[in-house]
Amino acid sequence: MAKPALSPWTIAKFGGSSVATAAQLLKVKAIVDTDPRRRFIVPSAPGKADPKDTKITDLLYLAHQLASNRQPIAQVWETIEGRFLSIVAELKLPLNLKPVLDEVRRTIENGASADYAASRGEAIHGHVLAALLGAEYVDAAEVIFFDRSGRLDPKSYGAIKARCAAPNKRYVIPGFYGSAADGQVKTFSRGGSDVTGSVVANALDCALYENWTDVSGFLMTDPRIVPEAKPITEITYRELRELSYMGANVLHEEAVFPVREKGIPINIKNTNKPEDPGTMIVVDLEVDPNNLIAGIAGTKGFTVIQIEKALMNVEIGFGRRVLDVFEHFGISYEHTPTSIDTMSVLVSNKQLGDKLDQVMEELQSTLKPDLLKAERGIALIATVGKNMNHTIGTAARLFTALAKAKVNVRMIDQGSSEQNIIVGVDEADLNTGIRAIYHEFA
Ligand code: ASP
Repeated sequence: MAKPALSPWTIAKFGGSSVATAAQLLKVKAIVDTDPRRRFIVPSAPGKADPKDTKITDLLYLAHQLASNRQPIAQVWETIEGRFLSIVAELKLPLNLKPVLDEVRRTIENGASADYAASRGEAIHGHVLAALLGAEYVDAAEVIFFDRSGRLDPKSYGAIKARCAAPNKRYVIPGFYGSAADGQVKTFSRGGSDVTGSVVANALDCALYENWTDVSGFLMTDPRIVPEAKPITEITYRELRELSYMGANVLHEEAVFPVREKGIPINIKNTNKPEDPGTMIVVDLEVDPNNLIAGIAGTKGFTVIQIEKALMNVEIGFGRRVLDVFEHFGISYEHTPTSIDTMSVLVSNKQLGDKLDQVMEELQSTLKPDLLKAERGIALIATVGKNMNHTIGTAARLFTALAKAKVNVRMIDQGSSEQNIIVGVDEADLNTGIRAIYHEFA
């Protein structure tokens, strides 16, 4: 299907640390002012000004919690108000935030919802940024809508387009929230300003979605494990998805879909080092045999449940019955490697919670297996790269590298996309395994 023509404009979303202080906001202004294409600006609420600080969003959730327990919010409110007022004073903005802050405080004290409270970080900070940039403020509640099931209502796209229609104006649209079907303020899940950015990019057919953070894009793997990990300059949406599912989380996972649909690239940039190219996330990339893998992600905290039964392969419905047990307990599984008479189910400990014993009992009684055992302490390593499926011998190299590093592979899964190879190893081998694969390919 032909992709629609894009406009020349850029949407620039600035994350919490990029807008945490007056000094950071001046960097944002410099960035926006250097490129007239940056017309649509989506801010987060002020994040941590230093590592010991608390994010405004967290303080707002706390204020809501206190208010709903009928406890005073004065102390938390002082911190919240102090942060906003000192930013405005330091930037010498002609903006009187006090009445806005007072109104929000009253509404929270009078029993407003958690979503309303949390959303005010972005809503108020949007006014600050609009004043600083000389831009028009757009209340996200008037243009971003959720349907009855809580999903983004596509009518949002038309509403954003109609509201931001002046040809040369700059607009500030606060991230993270919109309106529910009943008209109340509703937020996306945490980190959701990324999703707002993506929805705005789609609505306005922006040529580029810049996502400004405090890192210069993604690295090929966790630098705590491989300190020399190289930056990723370009990666496809698909590759990123495979990596983020393993916990590489710079971008909210729902932020990919609205932009991918229109072929809009996302550039992850660093507000503190705007000259760094960052990582470009694109729909597709040319095949590059010198760049076999895009990245490696690893996570601990999985359990493997092994089921063995003679002639399992002819027992129609066996696999379904196994998975039914997990569904019954509301557990989502990760992988199900099988052999002729065995099936394993890999689940994260988080999903499993304290239900392992119950799951085992039900598997035992419904399937009558010859052997049933659970092993905790499994880590998964995902090696991702779309060029892998064009190159013979990639898997052999990967497993040889692991063998040389004396890492015992407990499970193998290659997704049908052939863009990833996932191996399960003992948690103790996770870092050694990642290093071995990285040094083989990078
Ligand atoms: N401020 C919100 C949060 O902390 C949303 C965001 O920053 O994207 O989750």
